[in-house]
Amino acid sequence: MLDTFLDHGWINDDLRAHADSVRRFLAAEYEPNRDAYTEAGLVAHEFWEKAGAHGILGASVPEEYGGLGLSRLFDLVSIIEQGRTGDSGWGMVIHNIVLHYVTDLATPDQKERWLPKLASGEWVAGIAMTEPGTGSDLQRVRTTATKDGNEYVLSGSKTFISNGMNADFILVVAKTDPTAGARGISLVALETAGAEGFRRGRKLDKIGMRRQDTLELFFDDVRVPRTNLLGTEEGEGFVQLMTQLPWERLTIAYSALAASRCALQHTLAYVKDRNAFGQRLMDFQNTRFRLAEVTTEIELLAGFLDRLTRELEEGRLTPERAAMAKMWGTEMQGRTVDVCLQLHGGYGYINDYPIAELYADARVQRIYGGSNEIMREIVARSLDRN
Ligand SMILES: Cc1cc2nc3c(=O)[nH]c(=O)nc-3n(C[C@H](O)[C@H](O)[C@H](O)COP(=O)(O)OP(=O)(O)OC[C@H]3O[C@@H](n4cnc5c(N)ncnc54)[C@H](O)[C@@H]3O)c2cc1C
Repeated sequence: MLDTFLDHGWINDDLRAHADSVRRFLAAEYEPNRDAYTEAGLVAHEFWEKAGAHGILGASVPEEYGGLGLSRLFDLVSIIEQGRTGDSGWGMVIHNIVLHYVTDLATPDQKERWLPKLASGEWVAGIAMTEPGTGSDLQRVRTTATKDGNEYVLSGSKTFISNGMNADFILVVAKTDPTAGARGISLVALETAGAEGFRRGRKLDKIGMRRQDTLELFFDDVRVPRTNLLGTEEGEGFVQLMTQLPWERLTIAYSALAASRCALQHTLAYVKDRNAFGQRLMDFQNTRFRLAEVTTEIELLAGFLDRLTRELEEGRLTPERAAMAKMWGTEMQGRTVDVCLQLHGGYGYINDYPIAELYADARVQRIYGGSNEIMREIVARSLDRN
């Protein structure tokens, strides 16, 4: 039978084998702990280490730095498999995003220092851009990294940081030159162990993604070696962010696709099983039509993502096309989970049913990774260019 989750033009036997392996791993190691992680609002660090040992975290990290040296398609497969389980609490996508910053932009010395620990799961990664005073308008960040001898002194605060509690390695977006606007922004890596002046704030109480540790972070004159500036040049941070955002947005779009497929699968099972007015819910024309629409939209997204994935592999994925996928994909996900919840009736609102979590988790997809209004801006700007 066709496995719709893996029904992509770019899937081959090796990727299918990776998918099987990730699926078995999640079933054995994640599913039994899901409730405990929800309760704790945190996925245990130990689980990250197991995922690293299983080759999930470092699949696309070069072998010389402790990874498997495979293509990013393997990362996409891991994201799809996580989505198949209906989970978006484990912050693997964020970890992966940070990994690619390091793989693509770090110096050989930095890669040697950081990648093996990130690939093995010894370190969990986060990226800290957003501040209480600014989110979409990244140029206005107020956190500073001030040079002092061989060190930077980090000062400021961040909020909404995914993996914030677990994170051992955080890429901090900071101003190395507060007078230079976007050109004064740099990315500075904080290794959190023993970092004096670094403080994790409260775990934020969210309406969804309840296993995900999303935190406020505080930097009170935290000293970081100068060699922790990502890359070699100060002031490159904004450009570095821009180069990585298409990948980040593509991964969000894939997670939207997988979550939508998961919602559809649960809903199909439900409407074929439950009866009303002497027939299955599936037999009502409304149910059939709504699910036909949802399925069509899912297939449209899958087709578009196939195309963008080819563009990614050929090195020509543009920010505006990734923005389109993130915007449309997450909005499609929102429509899908809404229809699917409705078809569950009252049970859809009860947390025992997977659709409830899928519904709550979907909402933030339109906000983070660049809000969908910002995605529209990026697309519109590309239309306005000569
Ligand atoms: C669960 C969760 C996890 C997150 N994880 C991370 C993380 O790991 N790291 C990190 O750095 N951040 C993270 N974020 C933060 C997230 O990226 C920001 O919330 C997002 O970028 C929006 O910023 P803001 O919340 O400050 O909203 P604002 O920027 O204040 O925006 C408020 C509203 O105004 C709109 N708006 C803003 N500017 C424009 C414009 N130019 N045109 C039209 N409309 C506009 C926005 O679209 C939005 O609707 C996370 C957030 C959440 C909720």
